[in-house]
Amino acid sequence: MRTFPLAKRLQALPPYLFAAIDKAKEEVRAQGKDIISLGIGDPDLPTPEFIVEALCAAARKPEHHQYPSYIGMLAFRQAVADWYKTRFGVDLDPATEVMTLIGSKEGIAHFPLAFIDPGDLALVATPNYPVYPVTTAFVGGEVKYLPLTDENDFLPDLDSVSEAEWKRAKLIYVNYPNNPTAASAPRGFYEKLVAIAREYDVIVVHDAAYTEVYFDPADKPLSILEIPGAKDVAIEFHSLSKTYNMTGWRIGMAVGNPSLVAGLGKVKENVDSGLFQAIQEAGIAALQNGEPYAAKFREVYKERRDVMLKCLGDIGISCRVPKASLYIWAKVPHGQTSQEFVTKVLRQTGVVLTPGNGFGTPGEGYFRISLTVNTDRLKEAASRISSL
Ligand code: PLP
Repeated sequence: MRTFPLAKRLQALPPYLFAAIDKAKEEVRAQGKDIISLGIGDPDLPTPEFIVEALCAAARKPEHHQYPSYIGMLAFRQAVADWYKTRFGVDLDPATEVMTLIGSKEGIAHFPLAFIDPGDLALVATPNYPVYPVTTAFVGGEVKYLPLTDENDFLPDLDSVSEAEWKRAKLIYVNYPNNPTAASAPRGFYEKLVAIAREYDVIVVHDAAYTEVYFDPADKPLSILEIPGAKDVAIEFHSLSKTYNMTGWRIGMAVGNPSLVAGLGKVKENVDSGLFQAIQEAGIAALQNGEPYAAKFREVYKERRDVMLKCLGDIGISCRVPKASLYIWAKVPHGQTSQEFVTKVLRQTGVVLTPGNGFGTPGEGYFRISLTVNTDRLKEAASRISSL
């Protein structure tokens, strides 16, 4: 059988971070070790039953068995607009400012096709969700990374970008609550970002997938669209995945500036045929009635966060206390690289962690813990790590 070489754009890519971790995990599992995976941010609790029921009922409706609309059902887009109004106080026109996505990853990945030409500059706050720079590179865009560090509270230093770079930049990617650093962004950061973006005509892509996983009502994360003038320049990607434990369902949304939403829609018209409408109906149920469940899930994650923080403290591993997200971003014990540490932990204890450098160079010296296993397993994982 012949083997065809991959296109250069793929040859240039490192292996997808989680695919590489999965491979190492399977090797260790094959040796008979009990694996505790704190690697990937995939909620372990099931989707609430009422959402599953809504899907089952909707799946029986023949009108959903045909091609869905490209931009999503109006009823789902209306439910998104209503949810944004209730949750963030943000007004959205469901006809032009909301689009259904097949998970937010899909929309994020397709967005550069709509707005980046070869040679265009994209600013990417890093460490980062890998999709932003990879799909920017797919379309020939150039990336400038803005490091997120302890010193800058894991917020990109917007003043470090020169005037010439702001003038050249086509878009900037930011993500709060942040994966992987678990940092939140204050209102002042968004205000400054929106002001600069408006001054230099730069698109702001805000990835808001984790806004509903917060641990104290006082720390409720913002939508960038709460900032006056943000709709002038911003598109926000959101998702039902993390809020309602629906990662497997593949349902998300893009909201914000109508020309940005329309540009993404034009790409999607040409590459996919929308999302199964029964899933969108279930999504409506989730958005309309899911809040008490989301609140319960927050309690679960908060307890897990506190258990893990205590264990890490006992072992002498330092980290900040996250206000939101599914993650803890912790410092690798002295004298080891991120990769050395997580490889040692995996091979000797069966605990899967994610090396911080896998998300970008400033992540070196950190590892990420995902709070997606129960407290007993978290304690067990910590105890195994402490025995090293
Ligand atoms: N954005 C961030 C920062 C993420 O961590 C993830 C998934 O882990 C996504 C987007 C994609 O989520 P989904 O495609 O399930 O909506």
